[in-house]
Parts: sequence; C-alpha cells; structure tokens
Amino acid sequence: MIDFPRRHRVPYHGRFRIGEFDTGPPKGSGTETRLENELKQSVDRLDELQRKLFADQRHALLAVFQAMDAAGKDSTIRKVFSGVNPAGFRVHAFGRPSELELRHDFLQRVAARLPERGKIGIFNRSHYEEVLVVRVHPGALAAQNLPEAGGKGFWEARFDSIREFERHLARNGTVVVKFWLNVSRNEQKKRLLERIEDPEKNWKFRLGDLDDRALWDDYQAAYEAMLRATSRPYAPWYAIPADDKDYMRATVARILVETLECMDPRYPRLRAAQRRELQQGRRRLLAE
Ligand code: AMP
Ligand code: MG
Repeated sequence: MIDFPRRHRVPYHGRFRIGEFDTGPPKGSGTETRLENELKQSVDRLDELQRKLFADQRHALLAVFQAMDAAGKDSTIRKVFSGVNPAGFRVHAFGRPSELELRHDFLQRVAARLPERGKIGIFNRSHYEEVLVVRVHPGALAAQNLPEAGGKGFWEARFDSIREFERHLARNGTVVVKFWLNVSRNEQKKRLLERIEDPEKNWKFRLGDLDDRALWDDYQAAYEAMLRATSRPYAPWYAIPADDKDYMRATVARILVETLECMDPRYPRLRAAQRRELQQGRRRLLAE
C-alpha cells in the first residue's frame, strides 16, 4: 500500500469535528511569490512523474475534488495539471445525473470513467455528491427511486459501498487521493459577489448556488460524516485550506507530487532482447 503524505491528511479515525480544519493557510506558509514558485516546481515535477507513470503501467492515479461552490475546484485543476501532457490525464466533471444515470446504481457513472493503468483521472465532483448534495436535498434522493431510502442506516450503507469500491480500486493498482477544498462561508460570499460584479465572471453565477449556501450547516454536517467514514489508509482525504488560492494550489500540487513519488513509477528495465535491438538499430542508422 502507498505511504500517503501526512500534511493536511484527514485522520483515519473519526474523532474530529469539521470545524477543526483550517480554511486559511497556516502561519509562515510563505509569500505569494514563494507559493507561486513552489507551484511551478511541482507542476514541472508532475510532468516528469506522469511520463514515468505511463511508461511503468503499474498504477493509475485518481484525484477526486469536492468542495462547496466557488472554493476553486476548476482553477486548481487547471493550474496544477497545466504542465502535464494532455494525453496523460483526463478530467471528468460530474453534474446532475441524467435520467438514465438515475436508473443505475450510484457508482456506475464514476466506474465508467476511471483511469486505466498508466493514466491520471481527475474527478471534478464525484460519487461523493451522493452523500453530500443527495443527503442535503431529499428530492435528489427521491429521484433515484430506490426500494429503500433514507434513515441513518441508509447513509452508513452508502459509506460502506464507497469504502468497498475504493478498496477494490486500491487492490487493483488505482491510487485514490481525495481533496476537500475547505473554503469559509465568508470567503464564499466574497467570491460569489465577485461573480456578480465582474462581467467576465457573470456566466459562472447561478442563483441556485445561494440555495446551497443557505444550507451551509447541513452541508458541513454531511461533509463531516463523509470525511469520518471515508478517509482511510487506502484512500485518504486531504483537507485543503481554500481561502487563499495560492496556498491551495501549491498544496494540492505538492501532495500529488508526493503521492506519485510514493508510487515510485519507473521506466521499465530493458530485457536482453530489447538491448540487442537498440544496438542493431544504432548500427543500421550509423551505417546509412
Ligand atoms: P457545477 O459543478 O457547478 O457544474 O454543478 C454541478 C451540480 O450538479 C452541483 O450543484 C452538484 O451538486 C450537482 N450534482 C453533482 N452530482 C450529483 C448527484 N449525484 N446528484 C445530484 N446532484 C448532483
Ligand atoms: Mg450548486
């Protein structure tokens, strides 16, 4: 099993309250310039590690992003993977399920989009919406038309399904890391107002986001239950302070670098036959 990095990792035991996780950067985390430099270094390093991951073909990496609106999921994904070969990773955004998706089990649509060995998969929202938005909005659960739904046992069973699913992935070479971008209520208000005031951001604003904001406490409770039940040694959650974007991006990038380093991807060792082919090839080219 991978020895996941520790910094910002959510504990594997459930004895924490969600309020204990910081939304702002720790003291001494550095100036904007230093964080930008750190991000740049990690971006370059991710490119190198991705090449090895692909050459090695032993592991896939799945990075899951969850957060309240305006926490910065999209821009974090964009910046952190800006240096990686686009052929090496794929981003999937999960929105409201379609009619057909609603008729499947809740893991079906994510299972269909998992990265294959050698690749990086990025989930912008994920199966975790099924214990967040679906838990907070009873109508979303009703739409699934399940034979039995609701009650504490129901959510425990969903957590069970998720844990089993991720353990199965881990056993089969998919390394799962999960980022919760922890934005404060105040900072979210600021960013939503920016979407209203800045003409270039107007397109991002949806009045419906304010309905989710009004359910802030319900969401926090759902996040807490989710983090407690699903941060595990084989698929940890990371609680990333999200009020400062530079810190958030540098931190996500560093955790991904450290995770990939633990996976220790290697260029495959050449077999004797391949070495002979290289020599033959050199002779033929040089003889032209
Ligand atoms: P956005 O990420 O801003 O494009 O919004 C996507 C919306 O789809 C969010 O409001 C999510 O909460 C919602 N969503 C994602 N997955 C699900 C799901 N499984 N069930 C219901 N709503 C979902
Ligand atoms: Mg929303």
